[in-house]
Amino acid sequence: MIKTVSVIGAGTMGNGIAHVFAQHGYLVNLVDLSKPQLDKAIATITKNMERQLDKGLITEEIKARALSNITTMTSFAGLKDSQLIVEAATENTDLKLSIFKQIDEVAPEGCILASNTSSISITKIAAATKRPGHVIGMHFMNPVPVMKLVEVINGYATKKDVTDTVVELSQKLNKVPCVVNDYPGFIANRILMPMINEAIYSLYEGVADVKAIDTVMKLGMAHPMGPLQLADFIGLDVCLSILDVLHKGFGNPKYAPCPLLVNMVTAGKLGVKTGEGFYSYIQGSKELTVSEQFK
Ligand code: NAD
Repeated sequence: MIKTVSVIGAGTMGNGIAHVFAQHGYLVNLVDLSKPQLDKAIATITKNMERQLDKGLITEEIKARALSNITTMTSFAGLKDSQLIVEAATENTDLKLSIFKQIDEVAPEGCILASNTSSISITKIAAATKRPGHVIGMHFMNPVPVMKLVEVINGYATKKDVTDTVVELSQKLNKVPCVVNDYPGFIANRILMPMINEAIYSLYEGVADVKAIDTVMKLGMAHPMGPLQLADFIGLDVCLSILDVLHKGFGNPKYAPCPLLVNMVTAGKLGVKTGEGFYSYIQGSKELTVSEQFK
């Protein structure tokens, strides 16, 4: 029975994951490298819960209980009482392998170790531990409190009862789990990233401009956001690194990243987080302006 969940990494995804577990009655240990990062995460969770309260999605009582369910910490020592650990630290293979090696030492027997990785092999992460049968992918989407999907990724050795537990748990969080196997990009990014890459190729080859490409996909396919805007939102560096994983993992040239994407990342135009990608972002403004480069 899962009662205590530890979340490693209190960034964009980690604070959202801690938020949903705490909201659904689980005790949460939230771990990051520094106290200021943890304080920032708690401030974000509080703000997001206030938004849910304003919309009538939760009560004041649920908010207060959820916040009191979260304990912050800067070391892995406090993880020994967890039945599930969800790692949502920075997307870096060596870092994740090192984290899994360490948490495997402190986590009690039977504790499930999950990773929220977007692109790193679950089988590879599992091989860093002495319990590969208990390692699984739990790929939440951003923003976690809003998005319904959890892509549950079976590593090569993941045990069936572990998958069943994670599926059931995701449903308890009011999410919809989809079970997939561990191949590059899983399902979400294997399908999304080639679409984004193709949109960038269409721009690069002059087939259409930024606004036209995004409008065709929004109005024609009922996508809430065009692929170029979505790429800016995800981060162009993140898109490039996932395409590299697909390209290398399958050895198929169809996944080769568009040279325009490579150039933009090299030039530091990473999308929303740097203020410019296919669009320009002015803090505080909701208006979507095509970047000067593409006018
Ligand atoms: P982020 O940079 O916002 O947060 C990462 C956090 O990990 C930071 O707070 C950092 O201090 C912390 N961290 C780094 N090393 C650590 C360590 N040794 N111990 C504890 N904490 C450590 O990143 P993010 O966007 O939240 O991404 C986290 C994971 O989620 C990545 O694997 C990413 O691929 C995946 N993911 C991201 C998104 C997204 O849209 N951002 C969506 C799905 C999955």
